Amino acid sequence: NLTNTWNMVDQYIIERLIPHDSVLEQVLAANQQAGLPPYDVSPNQGKLLNLFAQMQGSQRILEIGTLGGYSTIWLARALPLGGQLVTLELDPVHAQVAKANISLAQLDDIVDLRVGDALDQLAQMDFEGVAPFDFIFIDADKPNNPNYLKWALHFSHPGTVIIGDNVIRDGEVINENNQDPRVEGVRKFYDLLADESRITATAIQTVGSKGYDGFVLGIVTS
Ligand code: SAM
Repeated sequence: NLTNTWNMVDQYIIERLIPHDSVLEQVLAANQQAGLPPYDVSPNQGKLLNLFAQMQGSQRILEIGTLGGYSTIWLARALPLGGQLVTLELDPVHAQVAKANISLAQLDDIVDLRVGDALDQLAQMDFEGVAPFDFIFIDADKPNNPNYLKWALHFSHPGTVIIGDNVIRDGEVINENNQDPRVEGVRKFYDLLADESRITATAIQTVGSKGYDGFVLGIVTS
Protein backbone atom coordinates (compact mmCIF):
# COMPACT_ATOMS: atom_id res chain seq x y z
CA ASN A 1 0.00 0.00 0.00
CA LEU A 2 0.93 3.64 -0.34
CA THR A 3 1.89 4.28 3.29
CA ASN A 4 4.25 1.35 3.14
CA THR A 5 5.90 2.70 0.00
CA TRP A 6 6.26 6.17 1.58
CA ASN A 7 7.96 4.56 4.59
CA MET A 8 10.29 2.50 2.46
CA VAL A 9 11.23 5.45 0.27
CA ASP A 10 11.92 7.54 3.38
CA GLN A 11 14.17 4.71 4.56
CA TYR A 12 15.90 4.64 1.16
CA ILE A 13 16.57 8.39 1.36
CA ILE A 14 17.76 8.22 4.96
CA GLU A 15 20.13 5.32 4.28
CA ARG A 16 21.80 7.20 1.46
CA LEU A 17 21.76 10.84 2.49
CA ILE A 18 21.54 11.00 6.26
CA PRO A 19 24.57 9.56 8.03
CA HIS A 20 24.01 7.55 11.22
CA ASP A 21 24.00 9.89 14.16
CA SER A 22 24.09 8.30 17.58
CA VAL A 23 22.92 11.50 19.30
CA LEU A 24 19.80 11.85 17.16
CA GLU A 25 19.08 8.13 17.49
CA GLN A 26 19.38 8.37 21.29
CA VAL A 27 17.11 11.41 21.27
CA LEU A 28 14.34 9.55 19.44
CA ALA A 29 14.78 6.58 21.79
CA ALA A 30 14.60 8.88 24.85
CA ASN A 31 11.44 10.53 23.52
CA GLN A 32 9.82 7.15 23.00
CA GLN A 33 10.89 5.91 26.40
CA ALA A 34 9.43 9.01 28.07
CA GLY A 35 6.14 8.37 26.29
CA LEU A 36 6.22 11.55 24.19
CA PRO A 37 3.84 11.57 21.22
CA PRO A 38 5.67 10.73 17.96
CA TYR A 39 5.15 14.17 16.46
CA ASP A 40 8.79 14.99 15.81
CA VAL A 41 9.75 15.69 12.22
CA SER A 42 11.23 12.74 10.30
CA PRO A 43 15.02 12.56 9.82
CA ASN A 44 14.85 13.76 6.23
CA GLN A 45 12.55 16.62 7.25
CA GLY A 46 14.90 17.48 10.11
CA LYS A 47 17.73 17.65 7.65
CA LEU A 48 15.62 19.77 5.31
CA LEU A 49 15.14 22.30 8.12
CA ASN A 50 18.87 22.18 8.80
CA LEU A 51 19.66 22.80 5.12
CA PHE A 52 17.15 25.66 4.86
CA ALA A 53 18.75 27.34 7.87
CA GLN A 54 22.21 26.88 6.38
CA MET A 55 21.09 28.17 2.96
CA GLN A 56 19.79 31.27 4.64
CA GLY A 57 22.85 31.67 6.86
CA SER A 58 20.56 31.88 9.90
CA GLN A 59 22.20 33.12 13.07
CA ARG A 60 19.12 33.44 15.22
CA ILE A 61 16.37 30.83 15.11
CA LEU A 62 13.00 30.73 16.88
CA GLU A 63 11.11 27.46 17.22
CA ILE A 64 7.55 27.31 18.54
CA GLY A 65 6.85 23.75 19.76
CA THR A 66 9.89 21.84 21.07
CA LEU A 67 8.49 18.42 22.02
CA GLY A 68 11.66 16.38 22.79
CA GLY A 69 13.97 18.75 20.95
CA TYR A 70 14.51 16.60 17.85
CA SER A 71 13.89 19.39 15.32
CA THR A 72 15.58 21.79 17.75
CA ILE A 73 18.82 19.83 17.46
CA TRP A 74 18.66 19.66 13.66
CA LEU A 75 18.12 23.42 13.51
CA ALA A 76 20.67 24.37 16.19
CA ARG A 77 23.32 22.38 14.34
CA ALA A 78 22.89 24.68 11.34
CA LEU A 79 24.00 27.69 13.36
CA PRO A 80 27.46 29.21 13.09
CA LEU A 81 29.57 29.96 16.15
CA GLY A 82 27.77 32.57 18.25
CA GLY A 83 24.36 31.60 16.86
CA GLN A 84 21.31 31.26 19.08
CA LEU A 85 18.09 29.28 19.06
CA VAL A 86 15.09 30.01 21.25
CA THR A 87 12.54 27.19 21.51
CA LEU A 88 9.16 27.36 23.25
CA GLU A 89 7.34 24.45 24.91
CA LEU A 90 4.18 24.35 27.01
CA ASP A 91 4.42 20.86 28.49
CA PRO A 92 6.93 20.63 31.37
CA VAL A 93 7.47 16.90 30.77
CA HIS A 94 8.27 17.47 27.09
CA ALA A 95 10.56 20.33 28.11
CA GLN A 96 12.39 18.18 30.65
CA VAL A 97 13.05 15.48 28.06
CA ALA A 98 14.10 18.13 25.53
CA LYS A 99 16.51 19.69 28.01
CA ALA A 100 18.28 16.36 28.56
CA ASN A 101 18.39 15.75 24.79
CA ILE A 102 19.82 19.21 24.12
CA SER A 103 22.52 18.54 26.72
CA LEU A 104 23.28 15.19 25.12
CA ALA A 105 23.77 17.05 21.83
CA GLN A 106 26.04 19.54 23.65
CA LEU A 107 23.90 22.44 22.56
CA ASP A 108 23.10 23.97 25.98
CA ASP A 109 25.02 27.14 25.20
CA ILE A 110 23.16 27.67 21.92
CA VAL A 111 19.62 26.67 22.83
CA ASP A 112 17.40 28.73 25.11
CA LEU A 113 14.43 26.50 26.02
CA ARG A 114 11.56 28.48 27.51
CA VAL A 115 8.78 26.58 29.23
CA GLY A 116 5.21 27.85 29.26
CA ASP A 117 2.44 28.78 26.87
CA ALA A 118 4.09 30.06 23.69
CA LEU A 119 1.81 33.12 23.49
CA ASP A 120 2.83 34.13 27.02
CA GLN A 121 6.47 33.43 26.24
CA LEU A 122 6.34 35.54 23.08
CA ALA A 123 4.76 38.45 24.98
CA GLN A 124 7.46 38.09 27.64
CA MET A 125 10.18 38.06 24.96
CA ASP A 126 8.68 41.23 23.51
CA PHE A 127 8.79 42.79 26.97
CA GLU A 128 12.44 41.76 27.28
CA GLY A 129 13.22 43.33 23.91
CA VAL A 130 14.51 40.08 22.39
CA ALA A 131 16.12 40.74 18.98
CA PRO A 132 14.45 39.62 15.73
CA PHE A 133 15.07 36.15 14.33
CA ASP A 134 16.37 35.11 10.91
CA PHE A 135 14.45 31.83 10.80
CA ILE A 136 11.21 30.87 12.55
CA PHE A 137 9.75 27.35 12.70
CA ILE A 138 6.10 27.16 13.81
CA ASP A 139 5.24 23.66 15.03
CA ALA A 140 3.06 23.83 18.17
CA ASP A 141 -0.74 23.76 18.67
CA LYS A 142 -2.24 24.34 15.22
CA PRO A 143 -5.34 26.32 16.33
CA ASN A 144 -2.90 29.05 17.40
CA ASN A 145 -1.10 29.16 14.05
CA PRO A 146 -2.65 32.52 13.10
CA ASN A 147 -1.45 34.00 16.42
CA TYR A 148 1.99 32.50 15.97
CA LEU A 149 2.22 33.97 12.50
CA LYS A 150 1.46 37.43 13.90
CA TRP A 151 4.17 37.02 16.51
CA ALA A 152 6.56 35.58 13.93
CA LEU A 153 6.13 38.72 11.85
CA HIS A 154 6.68 40.81 14.95
CA PHE A 155 10.02 39.07 15.56
CA SER A 156 11.09 39.24 11.90
CA HIS A 157 13.18 41.48 9.68
CA PRO A 158 13.10 41.64 5.87
CA GLY A 159 14.63 38.32 4.81
CA THR A 160 13.39 36.28 7.78
CA VAL A 161 12.28 32.79 6.75
CA ILE A 162 9.06 31.48 8.32
CA ILE A 163 8.15 27.78 8.10
CA GLY A 164 4.90 26.28 9.39
CA ASP A 165 4.49 22.51 9.69
CA ASN A 166 1.43 20.25 9.16
CA VAL A 167 -0.52 22.50 6.81
CA ILE A 168 -2.03 19.76 4.59
CA ARG A 169 -3.30 17.28 7.19
CA ASP A 170 -4.12 14.33 4.90
CA GLY A 171 -5.74 16.79 2.51
CA GLU A 172 -8.34 17.75 5.15
CA VAL A 173 -7.37 21.37 4.65
CA ILE A 174 -9.75 21.50 1.66
CA ASN A 175 -12.54 19.52 3.32
CA GLU A 176 -15.06 22.22 4.21
CA ASN A 177 -16.99 19.80 6.43
CA ASN A 178 -14.01 19.25 8.67
CA GLN A 179 -14.27 21.62 11.59
CA ASP A 180 -11.41 20.18 13.60
CA PRO A 181 -9.86 23.26 15.29
CA ARG A 182 -6.42 22.21 14.00
CA VAL A 183 -7.68 22.13 10.42
CA GLU A 184 -9.49 25.43 10.92
CA GLY A 185 -6.36 26.93 12.49
CA VAL A 186 -4.38 25.89 9.43
CA ARG A 187 -7.00 27.42 7.09
CA LYS A 188 -6.88 30.70 8.99
CA PHE A 189 -3.10 30.52 8.73
CA TYR A 190 -3.39 30.38 4.90
CA ASP A 191 -5.92 33.22 4.92
CA LEU A 192 -3.64 35.37 7.01
CA LEU A 193 -0.68 34.60 4.77
CA ALA A 194 -2.79 35.49 1.73
CA ASP A 195 -3.80 38.84 3.23
CA GLU A 196 -0.45 39.73 4.72
CA SER A 197 1.60 41.95 2.43
CA ARG A 198 4.77 41.63 4.53
CA ILE A 199 5.34 37.98 3.61
CA THR A 200 5.47 36.00 0.38
CA ALA A 201 4.87 32.28 0.77
CA THR A 202 4.09 28.91 -0.75
CA ALA A 203 3.12 25.51 0.60
CA ILE A 204 4.48 22.09 -0.33
CA GLN A 205 2.63 18.78 0.04
CA THR A 206 4.79 15.97 1.42
CA VAL A 207 4.48 12.21 1.89
CA GLY A 208 6.71 9.94 3.96
CA SER A 209 6.98 8.16 7.27
CA LYS A 210 4.90 10.93 8.84
CA GLY A 211 2.04 10.38 6.38
CA TYR A 212 0.55 12.91 3.96
CA ASP A 213 1.09 16.45 5.12
CA GLY A 214 3.15 19.48 4.17
CA PHE A 215 4.67 22.76 5.16
CA VAL A 216 4.36 26.44 4.46
CA LEU A 217 7.52 28.31 3.57
CA GLY A 218 7.64 32.08 3.41
CA ILE A 219 10.05 34.96 3.38
CA VAL A 220 9.40 38.29 5.04
CA THR A 221 9.69 41.09 2.54
CA SER A 222 9.19 44.22 4.62
N1 SAM B 1 9.08 20.55 16.63
C1 SAM B 1 9.02 19.24 17.28
C2 SAM B 1 9.87 18.26 16.51
O1 SAM B 1 9.74 18.22 15.26
O2 SAM B 1 10.66 17.53 17.12
C3 SAM B 1 7.61 18.72 17.37
C4 SAM B 1 6.66 19.63 18.09
S1 SAM B 1 5.09 18.86 18.42
C5 SAM B 1 4.38 18.76 16.82
C6 SAM B 1 4.17 20.20 19.16
C7 SAM B 1 4.62 20.62 20.53
O3 SAM B 1 4.01 21.88 20.84
C8 SAM B 1 4.24 19.66 21.64
O4 SAM B 1 5.37 19.30 22.41
C9 SAM B 1 3.25 20.45 22.50
O5 SAM B 1 3.35 20.17 23.89
C10 SAM B 1 3.67 21.88 22.21
N2 SAM B 1 2.60 22.87 22.46
C11 SAM B 1 1.27 22.70 22.35
N3 SAM B 1 0.62 23.81 22.68
C12 SAM B 1 1.56 24.73 23.02
C13 SAM B 1 1.52 26.06 23.46
N4 SAM B 1 0.36 26.71 23.63
N5 SAM B 1 2.68 26.68 23.72
C14 SAM B 1 3.88 26.05 23.55
N6 SAM B 1 3.97 24.77 23.12
C15 SAM B 1 2.84 24.12 22.86
